[in-house]
Amino acid sequence: MSGGGTKLLILGSTGSIGRSACNCVRRFRERFSAAGMAAGSNVGLLVEQIREFSPSSIYIADRENADAVKGLFGEKVNVYCGGNGLERIVNETDYDILLNALVGAAGFRPTVAALSRGKRVALANKESLVIGGDCIRAVVNPNKKPSAPIDETSLIPSLLPIDSEHSAILQCLQAGGGVEAAESITVTASGGPFRNLPKDSFAAVTPEQALNHPTWSMGKKITIDSATMMNKGFEVIEAHHLFSLPYERIRVCVHPQSIVHSLVEFHDGAVMAQLGLPDMELPIQYALSWPQRLPISGKRLNLSNIGSLDFLEPAPDKFPCLKLCIDAGKTGGTAPAVINAANEVAVDLFLNKKIGFTDIAKIVETELNEHNPVKAISVNDIMDIDKDVRERVARKYR
Ligand code: NAD
Ligand code: MG
Repeated sequence: MSGGGTKLLILGSTGSIGRSACNCVRRFRERFSAAGMAAGSNVGLLVEQIREFSPSSIYIADRENADAVKGLFGEKVNVYCGGNGLERIVNETDYDILLNALVGAAGFRPTVAALSRGKRVALANKESLVIGGDCIRAVVNPNKKPSAPIDETSLIPSLLPIDSEHSAILQCLQAGGGVEAAESITVTASGGPFRNLPKDSFAAVTPEQALNHPTWSMGKKITIDSATMMNKGFEVIEAHHLFSLPYERIRVCVHPQSIVHSLVEFHDGAVMAQLGLPDMELPIQYALSWPQRLPISGKRLNLSNIGSLDFLEPAPDKFPCLKLCIDAGKTGGTAPAVINAANEVAVDLFLNKKIGFTDIAKIVETELNEHNPVKAISVNDIMDIDKDVRERVARKYR
């Protein structure tokens, strides 16, 4: 059986965030344990994790892998797979915090399921908030309609962000007097590997070049989203829902060193920022220990070694995805779900060398233009739209 303390259900335990989340459990064995773990296809690593953390339940996407795990662990582990297996593990496991580190829209239903059970969610899967922010707001605040004024309430602490920028904003708000006292927030962006690339060179960018992020080491999908700056657009939508701030009070600033993780300006003109080396261990751990801070040893920030910190405006002509995404956020309703689905398929096509780098934005824009956004939407409606858009884009380009 899994150990004591706060029981975690870690979805995406074999991914970049999931592996760092396991480090957090390793650091504080008496404080955190893994009650459940879920992975897509890396059955080898999942088996190692089961041996090390003894979760009572696991999920693995395909049946063959699930049978292999059952063969190894027998009655000791509850094994879920396929279809609605992810939702079932979220609904049936005994845990305190769902740590959602799945990639893409696949993370949305599990987030809603955990919140519906009254569980806290430590959220890395920003796509949940991008495609279904209003649904999530309705689950967290059942007495409010999804169209309630945006400044009424934030989603903290039902959802605690793992994304470094949102963790930084939370830390600043925590120190500075909360959302009530905040005038605006500034989400920083590294600008990705192509910040200085001339616009006419973008069409020839290869997946290998786009996967070579200058400051962060992450999963493939988010690394491409960082190269197109779609990721920053997603993060603006994420911040809007998480902190209940209107889009006019959320800014984006390019900061190539990725040391200042984001900033909050308060009503009295004070600006607070959270600084640190680019490392996800802190935001992951803070989401699990909030509002407490727990120690992490290792490399420390030395500003004089870094020398200077730069801040620039994003270049909209080179990174059309940023504006497309923020505009879709402002439109609201189903628009962000369309952007996300088109982007997921386009990123996959790009990684498989079926389309070029600049086609990602074109595909997303085409899908958005062909879509009539609808306002009031349920989880099923969102997932239907997600499926429709995926199928349409795949049909056109495969
Ligand atoms: P990743 O690709 O490294 O890992 C994804 C994990 O999800 C893997 O364990 C994979 O097996 C699992 N998975 C994927 N599809 C699945 C499915 N259908 N069913 C079950 N499991 C499935 O991705 P990542 O970089 O760890 O990112 C995870 C999430 O965190 C994304 O939403 C990303 O935007 C966000 N995020 C990541 C970072 C980072 O530094 N990596 C930073 C901020 C936010
Ligand atoms: Mg981020």
